[in-house]
Amino acid sequence: MKDLSSIFNACLGCKVARCKTACPCGNDIPAVLAALKEGDEAKASSILHSTNPFPEWTSLLCDHERQCRGNCIRGIRSAPVDFPEVEKELSRAFPFPYQAGKETTKRVAIVGAGPSALSCATFLRQAGIHVEIFERENQIGGAMLTGIPAFRFAKDNLAKTRENLERLGVLFHFGKELNKDDMEGLRADFGDVVLAIGAEKENRLSTPPCPDIYAALSLLADINLRGDYHGLNHVQHIVVMGGGNVAMDISRSLVRLDTKVTLIYRRDEASMPAQRHEIAEAKEDGVVFCPLTNVADYCLDDNGRLTGLRLVRMELGEKDESGRPSFHTIEGSEFDMACDAFVMAIGEKSDLGRYYAAEEVQGNLHAIGDCSYGAKNIAAAIRSGREMAEEIIAK
Ligand SMILES: Cc1cc2nc3c(=O)[nH]c(=O)nc-3n(C[C@H](O)[C@H](O)[C@H](O)COP(=O)(O)OP(=O)(O)OC[C@H]3O[C@@H](n4cnc5c(N)ncnc54)[C@H](O)[C@@H]3O)c2cc1C
Repeated sequence: MKDLSSIFNACLGCKVARCKTACPCGNDIPAVLAALKEGDEAKASSILHSTNPFPEWTSLLCDHERQCRGNCIRGIRSAPVDFPEVEKELSRAFPFPYQAGKETTKRVAIVGAGPSALSCATFLRQAGIHVEIFERENQIGGAMLTGIPAFRFAKDNLAKTRENLERLGVLFHFGKELNKDDMEGLRADFGDVVLAIGAEKENRLSTPPCPDIYAALSLLADINLRGDYHGLNHVQHIVVMGGGNVAMDISRSLVRLDTKVTLIYRRDEASMPAQRHEIAEAKEDGVVFCPLTNVADYCLDDNGRLTGLRLVRMELGEKDESGRPSFHTIEGSEFDMACDAFVMAIGEKSDLGRYYAAEEVQGNLHAIGDCSYGAKNIAAAIRSGREMAEEIIAK
């Protein structure tokens, strides 16, 4: 294994480990580093893998600057402890070190194959519980398959993990989009049914009917799964609206078509929820940032095609309930921007309500990951899956 001494020796062993509390997965970061300090790499791996079956994903995709690294006390004066590097090394040296437990009579069905489902399945199989996963797509990964572009996350990562899970005894049923009746059928067949269907319901503005206006999540899925750019590779200028990872991912995917991409956002750049390095990389890729800007109107030609947007400047006000500054229109600041397409990337919500009212998710029916709490991140999804497995195991 690579020499990690400069990393684990940098850990100050804080009494209150802010890195650990800031980790959405709940990784015991100080304990992993302490085991490495003792020279016990296997113990370090076992501590890490007891909370996180997929450190190779979290090391690459977590928002470390707002989580472990951003909360490291050492980082106030110098470079923070580089825990993502430790995750990467331990996942290389001890790849998916799970064994199926002695088979029990418990049977669990999971709907969806995103990180929450895969984490849940791993811990259930470790306890010898029979697990079947029903997934709409033909591969595991959830939003890592359909949303995150290949230039940020190589999809062969998923094939390897799928093999590992199959070896552990997880039974996959791909190409199965289940409806409420199917789920009720599963409830009769399995002891527990876990819904892990993500947050796919996209927020949309009230836009006019127009073929040149897109929602980012479905567009990303078409690009990532089918290479279908909806003809956007032939247009001159695309305006994307949003400030999260989805906005960055769609902007960076589109700017690779040699098309001009402008990103508008209602607040300032500092308020963007996207990871800082994603913002920097989007700029490096050539995405033009236009913060403090909102859409006032859509300009369509006689054939109903988009020719431009009427935009308006915004200013920031007091903090709102999200803890971010509120935004207000600056009267009389409207201006026009010519464009051929407009893409909305303004947030996603759980669509669980399409199947079940909140009070129906009870008894042997459970919800985990983004569908249970709204769009968050991969580490939170892994934790949610693990905690559900613990609940089912303890029954
Ligand atoms: C574009 C984009 C970029 C992101 N970037 C990052 C990032 O850099 N870092 C980070 O930590 N997080 C990121 N996230 C968020 C992260 O990917 C999600 O929080 C995480 O994947 C949620 O996991 P999940 O298991 O709850 O759901 P998902 O990953 O959404 O998986 C849900 C699965 O359920 C399946 N499904 C849905 N309905 C049905 C049905 N009826 N029947 C059968 N199957 C169904 C779907 O096909 C999907 O595979 C990003 C998300 C997106 C969309």
